Amino acid sequence: MNIKKIKNKRPDLLIVGAGPVGCVIAERAAKIKKWTSLVIDKRNHIAGNCYDEENKWGIRVHKYGPHYMRFKKRKIFNYVSKFTKWIKGNYIVKTNIKGKLYPIPINLTTIEKFFKKKFKNPNEAKKFINDLKIKKKKIQNSEDFILANLGKEIYENFYKNYTIKQWGIHPKNLNKSVVGRLPIRYNRDPYYVNQKLKVMPKKGYTNLFKNMLSDQKIEICLNTSYELLKKKIRPKVATIYTGPPDVFFNFKYGKLDWRSLEFKFNTLKRNKIQECVQINFPNDYKYTRKVEIKHVTKQKSKYSTVSYEFPKSSGDPYYPINNKKNIKLFAKYKSLIKKLEKKNIYFEGRLANYKYLNMDEVIECALKLFKKLKLKYK
Ligand SMILES: Cc1cc2nc3c(=O)[nH]c(=O)nc-3n(C[C@H](O)[C@H](O)[C@H](O)COP(=O)(O)OP(=O)(O)OC[C@H]3O[C@@H](n4cnc5c(N)ncnc54)[C@H](O)[C@@H]3O)c2cc1C
Repeated sequence: MNIKKIKNKRPDLLIVGAGPVGCVIAERAAKIKKWTSLVIDKRNHIAGNCYDEENKWGIRVHKYGPHYMRFKKRKIFNYVSKFTKWIKGNYIVKTNIKGKLYPIPINLTTIEKFFKKKFKNPNEAKKFINDLKIKKKKIQNSEDFILANLGKEIYENFYKNYTIKQWGIHPKNLNKSVVGRLPIRYNRDPYYVNQKLKVMPKKGYTNLFKNMLSDQKIEICLNTSYELLKKKIRPKVATIYTGPPDVFFNFKYGKLDWRSLEFKFNTLKRNKIQECVQINFPNDYKYTRKVEIKHVTKQKSKYSTVSYEFPKSSGDPYYPINNKKNIKLFAKYKSLIKKLEKKNIYFEGRLANYKYLNMDEVIECALKLFKKLKLKYK
């Protein structure tokens, strides 16, 4: 990027990253404080990992994996609703075990189908599973968590190999929170997420974030990395950094580990290719999941596209690896991050916090950070 092309070299805010966090802060700053922002991103597009685009068959695909939007809090939903219309997001996920499909998260139907049983009520199923549970004095890791909650058969068929494939780490060596994210249900709720507010932006995520950045006070510079620009742009108010901390500090204490993914897309001249948006493959193939996003974007077309996800240990940072080494390392970076606030540099977002956060959660974090800036810089 040629610095000469940047119109405003003294913006109020320099925002590193045009993902959800960067977009929300730029939008609020323009609207509420009339601040100017220069939003940069090293990628060639806005919307961060939520980016979607139409492929040559006109099918909207989620370039960095399926994004199922759901909201824990109505006030965050109300804020985002200013920038998009919605369609329903009734996400259905199944897992393929020896050619048969089972609902995920595990629910009453999964348990009945897998064990070939019929339960009169949830209590009967709970009693059945109770007898399969393996008692643990202390839940030390992901393996313990599933063995203690669902027993060996479900652990071995549904969780063990999927976790190894996804993380490249045995569940014994992963924090219990990794598998604990997925609910275990004794009802027949078929939906992937618990939240009632589950929606898809009608025209896609890129459109949503483009609308957020539409104010004249916001300048966007793509294909531009912070490292190249930091000495040249001095914001009047603050810098907001949404990238990885180890990169910011030039790996001073070492490298934080991330799990990455490779996506392979395949388009067929078929209205639908599979029976629901996502099918997981714990025990077969090198990919973890096969996603047909058209089930939730509801596009009308003779064509449909599926994506296959292949986990890998190098590449774009997607999932932080929550083990002792990384938790300790991030704590060291965190102490440096805190000190930077005195220099008007703020870290926010899923990369900057080295934490897996959903879209509604990072949007809430961004709104909180903006509130803090608004009060501090009057
Ligand atoms: C595979 C996958 C699936 C997901 N599915 C869901 C889902 O179903 N539902 C949900 O709610 N959430 C989902 N998420 C989480 C969602 O992607 C994040 O919550 C959201 O993208 C975080 O926004 P952010 O702004 O913090 O970071 P990002 O979206 O990652 O944006 C950060 C941006 O900063 C840029 N950047 C970083 N460093 C620099 C630098 N030095 N210079 C310039 N630019 C830089 C990056 O290029 C990137 O575009 C998923 C995430 C992944 C990885």
